[in-house]
Amino acid sequence: MNVLVVLFVSAVVSSCSRLGSSAPRLLLVSFDGFRADYLETYNLPHLQELIEDGVLVKQVTNAFITKTFPNHYSIVTGLYEESHGIVANDMYDPDAKKKFSQFNDSDPFWWNEAVPIWVTNQQQRNGTSAAAMWPGTDVRINNTTPRFFMKYNFSVTFEERVEKIVKWLNSSDPVVNFATLYWEEPDVSGHKYGPADTENMRRVLKQVDQHIGFLTSKLKASGLWDSINVIITSDHGMAQCSPKKLIVLDNCIGRGNYTLIDRSPVAAVLPKHNKKYVYNLLKRCDDRHMKVYLKEEIPDRFHYRHNKRIQPIILIADEGWTIVQNEAPSKHAQVPETLQPQGFARCLDLYPQAVSSCVGDHGYDNTLPSMHPFLAARGPAFRRGYRQSMINNVDIYPMMCHILGLTPQPHNGTLSHTKCLLADQWCIHLPEAIGIVIGGLLVLTTFTCIVIIITKNRVASPRPFSRLQLQSDDDDPLIG
Ligand SMILES: [Zn+2]
Repeated sequence: MNVLVVLFVSAVVSSCSRLGSSAPRLLLVSFDGFRADYLETYNLPHLQELIEDGVLVKQVTNAFITKTFPNHYSIVTGLYEESHGIVANDMYDPDAKKKFSQFNDSDPFWWNEAVPIWVTNQQQRNGTSAAAMWPGTDVRINNTTPRFFMKYNFSVTFEERVEKIVKWLNSSDPVVNFATLYWEEPDVSGHKYGPADTENMRRVLKQVDQHIGFLTSKLKASGLWDSINVIITSDHGMAQCSPKKLIVLDNCIGRGNYTLIDRSPVAAVLPKHNKKYVYNLLKRCDDRHMKVYLKEEIPDRFHYRHNKRIQPIILIADEGWTIVQNEAPSKHAQVPETLQPQGFARCLDLYPQAVSSCVGDHGYDNTLPSMHPFLAARGPAFRRGYRQSMINNVDIYPMMCHILGLTPQPHNGTLSHTKCLLADQWCIHLPEAIGIVIGGLLVLTTFTCIVIIITKNRVASPRPFSRLQLQSDDDDPLIG
């Protein structure tokens, strides 16, 4: 008897400790540098098929600065960069005196200012997370990695990443309820050719669309398609640059005055001695195509001020312009050979000039449409055939938490911005709301009129005949 009780209790504990196969499941996919308007410019049948079966957000306003690492972390934390601490692809922490780069990114110190959704999923509901190369997923954040993950390696093909993810999603013990997948294109080619090179970008986008087709066919073949929710999005867009649009810092300030922590198009400047002196020199540099801000002057709308990793002076190039130190390409355009081939693609964020001259770049002001990616999603959690013009990328996090049944960590997003995308949410727009109010008033007015008419008719109708009641003194003779 005791053995039976122990077996029963252990079975209950076991079933409570893991999510069942019926738990909501979500796959988050990023195609790096997928500019929103590529969807209109190019023929993407596999992606369009997915959108017709689900939802599309035409433009996603991403976080400033519009770079890869910061925005991938904003998507999975719902935080602006100043709040999650990954404020650039290249950072310097003045307290710890540490440097972060895309090739030295695995120290949890940099990531621990926030808790990404794959960690919350495992800690809060005993869910299981899996990841194929999403930035940060191979780092022990809050002492936790996804249960299944791949160490970042550029040379692993898209197909290999998908095979891994689908294999993990097919596992029944444990059930993987959250997975992420990252692919470097069309960012690499966007840097290389520039978004204006539609001939080359058409070829690249065709490959990206075939990758989406491969992913959906694998999910269908494994029987996951009907039960899994898939979000396809990106971190940023891409602007057309020109080797003629250079802002040359050496023309206006000596290099001995400052350290350049992060480069174009948002340069992070750490003055060596006199901050005001450096600032004044930079202000005079080229204010026609670059904005120069002291950290405390950075506009509120960027949400990019309150973090020690944001440097004392930042320079923001106008769209299409590139900040360099020296005009000669050979001196600022070399990718160290030791960095290849691993990590080379993400490296292009750092060295856009390295691939011939500068032709495509991102990082600019996040209100520019060229910097915006898109979002497509389908699955049981999403409505079908719905299109929305815009959300913020910090809104994606609360939406994902809602789908997975997680209590979100503090974040900068708004769930109501995405509720029209969700099948279980009541969604109403302002014109519809006005229509409903006016309709309600009309019904109420009509009803009131009917009630008044009926009441009036009742008052006006003749009284029914009734015999007069004689009173006793009525019999008194009138004449005496
Ligand atoms: Zn990117």
